[in-house]
Amino acid sequence: MKLDILALAAHPDDVELSCSGTLLKAILNGKKAGIVDFTRGELGTRGTPEIRQQEANKSAEILGLSARENLGFRDGFFKNDEEHQLEVIKMIRKYQPEIVLANAFDDRHSDHGRASQLSKEACFLSGLKNIKTEIDGVEQAAWRPKVVYHYIQSIPTQPDFVVDVSEVWEKKIASIRAFASQFFDPNSNEANTYISSPEFMKMVEARAIHYGHEIGVQYGEGFNVERMTGVGDVFDLL
Ligand SMILES: [Zn+2]
Repeated sequence: MKLDILALAAHPDDVELSCSGTLLKAILNGKKAGIVDFTRGELGTRGTPEIRQQEANKSAEILGLSARENLGFRDGFFKNDEEHQLEVIKMIRKYQPEIVLANAFDDRHSDHGRASQLSKEACFLSGLKNIKTEIDGVEQAAWRPKVVYHYIQSIPTQPDFVVDVSEVWEKKIASIRAFASQFFDPNSNEANTYISSPEFMKMVEARAIHYGHEIGVQYGEGFNVERMTGVGDVFDLL
């Protein structure tokens, strides 16, 4: 199945926190979107890989995704090497997205920066036809996404562009809350973590309000790019 936009992420919930509003907006505009999570987040303090898988499925339903997969890489220790690049290339060739969203270049969690590099390199290599991959014995055709945009997660950076997600804000929050084991729940007896406090959710909203304010809307999601972005018509810009 071909997708228009594919988000790659080190952990289940990275996308929800950083760019699920952008996926929702694309879907609202008739595009097909999907997520490929690299790990099951098994090193997370709260919840279990099984619970997080159920939560990821619930969020996929809320978002209206056409596909969501988990590559089962080792949380904390996956590498940006040939073996892992080939697994990501298989996903890019399977879904043939025009746009790929990837983790932040450099972030609080060291997996994010590594996933960012892995995603970027896999997107390039996926376009080389002499790199052979197959799924279920069927050889895949080369495919290179037109662009890779890096979403902003823990460390705030100056975005290169901001997507207006005001219209889908409530749904974005619902997609984050689908990960009930990770975020603030007054009835939870699990250990408190960096992301489980009520203040963390306020930070997520404050960040979106700040980026939204920069472009004159209520809520925004910011992205960084390596290559200059362009538009065909200046009226496509807000
Ligand atoms: Zn993460």
